[in-house]
Amino acid sequence: MDDVTRRTLLHGAGASLAAAGFIQEAMARVAAFGPDDPYDLVVRGGEVIDPSQNLRGRRDIGIRNAMIAAVEREIAPQRGTQTLDAAGQLVLPGLIDFHAHVLHGGGIGLSGDELVPYTGTTTYVSAGDAGVGSFSAFKRAVIAQSRTRILAFLHISSIGLSGFPVGEMLNIDHARVDAAAKMLAENPDVLLGMKVRETLDVVGQNGLEPLKRAIAATERSGVEGARVMCHIGNAPGDLSALLDLLRPGDVLTHAYSGAGNNTVVNGRVLDAALAAKRRGVLIDVGHGGGSFDYTVCEAALQQGFTPDIISSDVHAVSVNTPGKPFLPWVMSKFLNLGVPLEHVVAMATINPATAIGRVPRLGTLQVGAPADLSIVALVEGPVDFVDTRQNQRKGERHIKPVQTVKAGRPFGRPYPQPFAWP
Ligand SMILES: [Zn+2]
Repeated sequence: MDDVTRRTLLHGAGASLAAAGFIQEAMARVAAFGPDDPYDLVVRGGEVIDPSQNLRGRRDIGIRNAMIAAVEREIAPQRGTQTLDAAGQLVLPGLIDFHAHVLHGGGIGLSGDELVPYTGTTTYVSAGDAGVGSFSAFKRAVIAQSRTRILAFLHISSIGLSGFPVGEMLNIDHARVDAAAKMLAENPDVLLGMKVRETLDVVGQNGLEPLKRAIAATERSGVEGARVMCHIGNAPGDLSALLDLLRPGDVLTHAYSGAGNNTVVNGRVLDAALAAKRRGVLIDVGHGGGSFDYTVCEAALQQGFTPDIISSDVHAVSVNTPGKPFLPWVMSKFLNLGVPLEHVVAMATINPATAIGRVPRLGTLQVGAPADLSIVALVEGPVDFVDTRQNQRKGERHIKPVQTVKAGRPFGRPYPQPFAWP
């Protein structure tokens, strides 16, 4: 497991209190049932991979009241009010996409729920779709309506990504530190920190000032553990100077971009990038439509600049590009680059869950965890991949979403009790 899983994550007092209550409530619910009571849903026959507990093997999973209630070698089918047959499939903790764009109806976001058949994802992190001018609408009109769980980084630009493709940071006056800090402090249930895009066409003459203001907003918020997610691409100026600003726990996204000013130069990973990883900056993939270059990634993997988190950067523009930035497809690219399956799964479950740090037992299939599951097929056979710079690679297998369960309820059939035919 990577360093993210070892880090002790702190969060605000409000979040801690909320978490403590949530755990007590969950334990009470599990304890209230007798040993012969039925499960709402039993997922049977699958091969469970749960890196959070070093578990890989055939297991049945019993779900009751939206929680994992049992993980056993065999649960009789009659013990489930409903069952899902996962024979021949992999059963994973619900996938977490740490860099996605799900503020639909405003900017480049898509509906996380509509994406589920392609993503198998139960938790999305919005990477700065909203800024202080749009976050409240996002929270009330989108997040509150979503079946999939949504957390978010607040954009340091108050207009968020609503002005795409016009750079949201061309006018530095949109980066309002006090307003952003206040919004972080008011929304510890959803907000993980600040997002900033440090690309020349986004920031213009403003250089690293947007990043500095994003960092200042997290500090001024008083929220312990608030992070900055920093996008790179054609970064303004010296990329090493940018990397040196990132603090332990901050997130470098598009780490393997080949858009210019890359983390790998002449085949060598920048010293500043390796130093950032060593001090605990989280390395995030953020594939997207223009931010994943095999030649960068391959050199980086060889030299130890490995990802902590695999994410898609799926949005309305990237979604139709040939690199197919869907989380299972991006995971498949790393699998075919030689990263072991368990590590690939960890980088889309327990690692981002640990970075989120405010939803108890997120990213695991332990008893008492939220009943979020991604059932996927590992499809053997030749497969063609392409990055965002027309580099092609052959692969041997890929991960394909089959069925997704959120809070104990499958997307699609079987429709849940009490109104459905069993
Ligand atoms: Zn993005």
